[in-house]
Amino acid sequence: MAERPIVIYGDPVLREKSKKVDEINQDVKDLVSDLTDTLNRASGLGLTANQIGVAKRVFIIDLRAVDINETLRVFINPEIIERSKEEVELEEGCLSFPDLYLKVTRPEKVRIRALDLDGNEFEVTAEGIAARAVQHEYDHAEGKLFIDCVSPLTRTMIKGRLKKLVAAS
Ligand SMILES: [Zn+2]
Repeated sequence: MAERPIVIYGDPVLREKSKKVDEINQDVKDLVSDLTDTLNRASGLGLTANQIGVAKRVFIIDLRAVDINETLRVFINPEIIERSKEEVELEEGCLSFPDLYLKVTRPEKVRIRALDLDGNEFEVTAEGIAARAVQHEYDHAEGKLFIDCVSPLTRTMIKGRLKKLVAAS
């Protein structure tokens, strides 16, 4: 398949709540293949389908750049079923917001349920950077963005940069 352009902030598809996948057919396999090719080029940790313009509940996480033991993971119809009470603040970036990095507070650990590419349901507890990546991508599938998770003051401070992104998109 092929690398696809990454949708930049300002495109309404990023605000769409993505639709559940009914059947893991060739279209879904092609979508995952495109996500993989696109993420490989972009050097990010994760990518959600609506970031390449497809509002389906599919995302991939690739932590190989930070952990050699990791593999690329596919999450279809993901659900976060548990969130830890403990929260941590970490800096996040997003491929749909070039050069914007923000400190975001989120639960330290989450448990997620999803289907893999063979249609098998799995559950996994993610912590550290994996928890962060999962929550960030899950939010994308919900039409939510990391700029929604910062304080009103930060939002005011980045207003000009967001305007520029919208103007360029
Ligand atoms: Zn993102």
